[in-house]
Amino acid sequence: MLGIVKYGELVLTQKANEVTEFNLNLEKLVFEMHDAMVRDHGMGLAAPQVGVSLRVFIVGIDGEPLRVFINPKITAASEETSEYEEGCLSFPGLYFNVTRPSAVEIEAVDVRGKPFKMSADGILARVIQHEYDHLDGVLFIDRISPAKRRRAMAHFSRMMSM
Ligand SMILES: [Zn+2]
Repeated sequence: MLGIVKYGELVLTQKANEVTEFNLNLEKLVFEMHDAMVRDHGMGLAAPQVGVSLRVFIVGIDGEPLRVFINPKITAASEETSEYEEGCLSFPGLYFNVTRPSAVEIEAVDVRGKPFKMSADGILARVIQHEYDHLDGVLFIDRISPAKRRRAMAHFSRMMSM
């Protein structure tokens, strides 16, 4: 079983590599990521969060089928933004409001390498953007003000040392 990598591990701040081989190992990775996400009650998970530097993320919103995005590209984002409280499985117990575009268009391939595109808004757009950031080594703490980040990180280190 794959464990979730917590903040402080290098893989979380690195740009992940394109997937070039669509094989059983990739299917196994997605399967195991799904397990890890469900176990930790997440709505999304990116491969770097299980220590694998590949451009793969999954989204599993309650009551909706699992969505798998491989080598994704966000091709458009709305000018309209919204604020929403986010959490991240790599920062257990940390939540704060993050402002992001309200809607996005995204292209990706599935686990067999078949391309697809979709538009997303609401919570789906939110999770897609959060997970997409992980593939570029960008974390949700990078999306808030420096003052807010300092407070959040002080709180987080206290919690992690308990
Ligand atoms: Zn995250």
